[in-house]
Amino acid sequence: MAYTGGPLNELNGKMGISAPSRSVPVMKLIKTHQPKSKDELVELIRYHYENTCTCGIKSQGTVTDFGRNLYEAQLKYWGKYRFSLQECIQWEYNLFVVQSLKGGIIEKRAIREITRLLPEFDVTEAAGYLDEELRIDILLQKNGNMKAGIQVKPVTFTHMRAEVITFNRIANEKWNHPVFYLYYDKNGELQHISELIGKLKDLR
Ligand SMILES: [Zn+2]
Repeated sequence: MAYTGGPLNELNGKMGISAPSRSVPVMKLIKTHQPKSKDELVELIRYHYENTCTCGIKSQGTVTDFGRNLYEAQLKYWGKYRFSLQECIQWEYNLFVVQSLKGGIIEKRAIREITRLLPEFDVTEAAGYLDEELRIDILLQKNGNMKAGIQVKPVTFTHMRAEVITFNRIANEKWNHPVFYLYYDKNGELQHISELIGKLKDLR
């Protein structure tokens, strides 16, 4: 589970970093636009910062901005920097994105589906470092050996800004196993799953 406790929790609370009026009413945003993945929520928050959406929700920044606000608040609250900017951004990401979605509905459905089609694999939801740093959603193991990872993405991900895609690719490359992408459409239907299953069956 994503870590959102500790001194940063105290700092965030006391300095009102994640107060909806100073960040984004994230649960309202989720209810309105129903993102199906973490990346989709990150992009939704950015969209509602950079644009005026007809839904009326306005974000005061991106998730990275909220992390930067937390980072800067340290000096005022503690008189020094105890945590790095990266740690602060990660903390706000955990709070706004990971905690708010609490394991995607689509990810769970994908796990059920892959388990059914590939009974010889042990299919589980990735957690902690793999999920938050490497952006891998699903793990596939066979006889106790790690075989591959899967990222579950909306089809619209392929149209996203190049830097987002590159960021994901670089994150994946830090891992020593192949990472596959599983896409879903706007109705939440998984795309080309049989093609993915074929690739997974070929893994040695
Ligand atoms: Zn909106």
